[in-house]
Amino acid sequence: MTIRISTLGFPRIGPRRELKAALEKYWSGRIGLPKLQEQAEGLRTATWVRQHSLGVAHIPSNDFSFYDHVLDTTAMVGAVPAVYGWTGGAVPLDTYFAMARGTQSSGGASSLPALEMTKWFDTNYHYMVPELHSGQRFTLASTKPLDEFLEAKSLGFHTRPVLVGPVTWLLLGKVTESGFDPLSLMQRLLPVYAEMLNRLSAAGADWVQMDEPCLALDMTDRAREVMTAAYKALAVAAPDVKLLVASYFGGLGGNLETALALPAAGLHIDLVRAPGQLDAVMARAPSDLVLSLGVIDGRNIWRADLRAVLDRLEPAVERLGAERVILAPSCSLLHVPIDLELESGLDDELKRWLAFAVQKIGELDTLGRALADGRSAVQAALDDSAAAAEARRRSPRIHDAAVQARLAAVTPAMAKRGSPFPARRQSQRTQRPLPAFPTTTIGSFPQTETVRKARAAHKKGAMDDAAYDGFLKQETAAAVRWQEEIGIDVLVHGEFERNDMVQYFGEQLAGYAFTTHGWVQSYGSRCVRPPVIYGDVSRPHPMTVYWSRYAQSLTERPVKGMLTGPVTMLQWSFVRDDLPRSAVCRQIALAIRDEVADLEKAGIGIVQIDEPAFREGLPLRRSEWQEYLDWAVECFRLASSGVADTTQIHTHMCYSEFNDIIDSIGALDADVISIETARSKMELLDAFIGYRYPNEIGPGVYDIHAPRRPDVDEMAALLRKAKERLAPDQIWVNPDCGLKTRRWDEVRPALANMVQAAKALRGESSR
Ligand code: GLN
Ligand code: ZN
Repeated sequence: MTIRISTLGFPRIGPRRELKAALEKYWSGRIGLPKLQEQAEGLRTATWVRQHSLGVAHIPSNDFSFYDHVLDTTAMVGAVPAVYGWTGGAVPLDTYFAMARGTQSSGGASSLPALEMTKWFDTNYHYMVPELHSGQRFTLASTKPLDEFLEAKSLGFHTRPVLVGPVTWLLLGKVTESGFDPLSLMQRLLPVYAEMLNRLSAAGADWVQMDEPCLALDMTDRAREVMTAAYKALAVAAPDVKLLVASYFGGLGGNLETALALPAAGLHIDLVRAPGQLDAVMARAPSDLVLSLGVIDGRNIWRADLRAVLDRLEPAVERLGAERVILAPSCSLLHVPIDLELESGLDDELKRWLAFAVQKIGELDTLGRALADGRSAVQAALDDSAAAAEARRRSPRIHDAAVQARLAAVTPAMAKRGSPFPARRQSQRTQRPLPAFPTTTIGSFPQTETVRKARAAHKKGAMDDAAYDGFLKQETAAAVRWQEEIGIDVLVHGEFERNDMVQYFGEQLAGYAFTTHGWVQSYGSRCVRPPVIYGDVSRPHPMTVYWSRYAQSLTERPVKGMLTGPVTMLQWSFVRDDLPRSAVCRQIALAIRDEVADLEKAGIGIVQIDEPAFREGLPLRRSEWQEYLDWAVECFRLASSGVADTTQIHTHMCYSEFNDIIDSIGALDADVISIETARSKMELLDAFIGYRYPNEIGPGVYDIHAPRRPDVDEMAALLRKAKERLAPDQIWVNPDCGLKTRRWDEVRPALANMVQAAKALRGESSR
């Protein structure tokens, strides 16, 4: 007997980010389309060859993408918004890239915006949001799934094409007409899917994977009905393919009956996030349904304890029969780096605990053999896995008794400021009188070419510590001077010394490691290397005091300390899987708490703790929200509450969809919160009004996402709108977000205008 293994999808960027390089060359005109296609083909071939040689039976195709698989689907069904000027036929690659990235105007040709981009479920991968309207028609406008199936076939690989399923694709769409239900487009959409399935089948495909991660969400009854009807219709219209419906990122929950009743030949379930669902699924699955068991974590980089996995799998295979089982990662391997072998930034002990995509396939292969031929057939691999798991469990590097003792000693009082907000506000105003509508910025100033070059030179050793320090001091001093000149009230040091808001802190914390090749795709050609939290987190030494103190020494005005909050530190990392996330977050919170205390001691009276990822941490299921919000709020408060009443805590979030979590935002009890509101023209402030938010707020008046710089009147008008919604003495004046991606020639006039706008408001009302 054999057990089939599959991957659901493999990372597409290439082991050395070859796709990024090729795309960027193509976009800048350094290579043409044929060269780009050739390089993409090379990557796909290598990926198929590799998976084949690693023993994958169901090798995916169409998991490759030039930018994003949701955008590929949008192209496949011909849902190109009118502005891109597509007139039918196959969607050209440049139209596809225009949707992905927008176009720059050249020679008078008007520039086009990109489609909106947002996070794919609860991952840090971003997809391009389809735009849907009631008049939408669909047509097969890209044969990419077929082309790639045939390409693999010609190389001798029989693949399982992957499509984003029609329900998920529609549910991910953005609808502008109010009251319009995107699912009402299903009838029109299905013929395109059916046509693709039939063409795949005619070309020789037997299995086709339909990704429906919406099954891990709270689906409405209507969505479930539409899903049932859609798959029934597909089974009739494309009877020859075997559909494997893939759910992932969580359990089926209330969608279990729906998923099991679909007329599909197979169902993939995530048994890493939701191990408990196996029994229910087995008990209720039709007797001929193939189950793809997602037992290896596709979202994290830890090596599995294969014996423990086998303990659960053996009875399942016994019950189902080998022919009804496929072994798989919990989700596509898209979300993990490719190959641990390439890694040189981690020491051997740490590497032994990890598995990237290639190693995860090896784990699946071992599991498959153990199930087929008995554990003894893979004794050595199982022993090694067990030894690695044991070594990790026992390693002194992950256990820090001091951190654990501190965590155990946390009291509720530590997560509470000394006095309630009204009293703190009084103390703060006495200590640091500020004008009405005080002005500030979110932290970073432009990371110019010069700044990045100096950092790179310092990293390479071409610039010594002293020279780099001098350079950073010069930049910081210039920023401080300039902020004073234009009249900003609460200054920042500019963050010139920081590479990234998480990495900068992670590099200075114990328990964090950084990779050299741990790249994962964030969006398009952009890849990130998330830090790895492998052990108990602590702060061996102050992290930001040096620069904050230096900046403060240059001015009489207050300089705001600038930290990244515990939830964001957690959210943007690969997190250890041997502790609950909440516990890891508390450890980080205590480390940040120490930093806040040190800043206060160094004379910094205002400290901002950024939490841009606070909302992203929300679980996919509503029923799990409150638990998350409770510990996330507690962690922020733990980080921020160890200070005197006079010390003012700010927080910043780069968005303002707060309606459904406003209680928790209030519960953070930050003295000041800055949020993004410029683009929505202050409408997004409404959550705060309904809630009667008691603390102070800086609703962004300058949209930093675009190069344009708003004038005084525009920002003053926004402030007047804010004033209609909030008490005037609640309002701070600041941009939407940090300015690191902008240029000085944009930032200077915009901020000077912002100060003038605040002054105009001061003239209109008294505090
Ligand atoms: N302080 C950070 C900055 O200004 C905040 C970044 C963010 O919100 N993403 O760059
Ligand atoms: Zn921001």
